[in-house]
Amino acid sequence: MNTKSREIIVHSSQESFNELKNGNIRFLKGESINTNYLEQIEQTKKGHQAHAVILSCMDARVPPEIIFDQGIGNLFVIRNAGNLEDENVIGSIEYTVRYSTAKLIVVMGHSHCGAVTGALNDIQHGHLSQLVEQIKPAIKTDKSCENILTDTAKFSVLQTINDIKERSESISELLMEEKISIIGAYYEVETGEVFFFE
Ligand SMILES: [Zn+2]
Repeated sequence: MNTKSREIIVHSSQESFNELKNGNIRFLKGESINTNYLEQIEQTKKGHQAHAVILSCMDARVPPEIIFDQGIGNLFVIRNAGNLEDENVIGSIEYTVRYSTAKLIVVMGHSHCGAVTGALNDIQHGHLSQLVEQIKPAIKTDKSCENILTDTAKFSVLQTINDIKERSESISELLMEEKISIIGAYYEVETGEVFFFE
């Protein structure tokens, strides 16, 4: 197996998307190549050109650098319970696309998400209450529907994407100018596969 890392230089959101897609395919085949972390530390010690920003859940089974086979220095990663946006998250994304090198924003939900389950079960506890409250508008199906957990996680991703666009003039402007793209994704913890939304 080739474990030699290479520098990833990306010029467009499409190239960034291809990197992530191909990286997940390599990961699924057990053929990850960006795993020589000491070499990547050497390559990035003076700076990096991370090509995408991933807003994903903090779930321990969803580490973007690994599942997209990107190693060190290629991704900005923002994680919290339920991959939700707030002022700090949006500010962080604005930084990556305005002042750094990110061309693609990915909002990624996942299967068996505890935060989404919390919203469905209406958990009330400390600061968690407002967190699950933010997910609740994404509950679109009847509670008896067997796909409710999956559907809500996916709707929540779309809701977060809309919120980011609505709340950030800076990001919307770059999207309109087609300098960056934003896309939703869903990660299956059972298989390791990432499904990108159309
Ligand atoms: Zn989760």
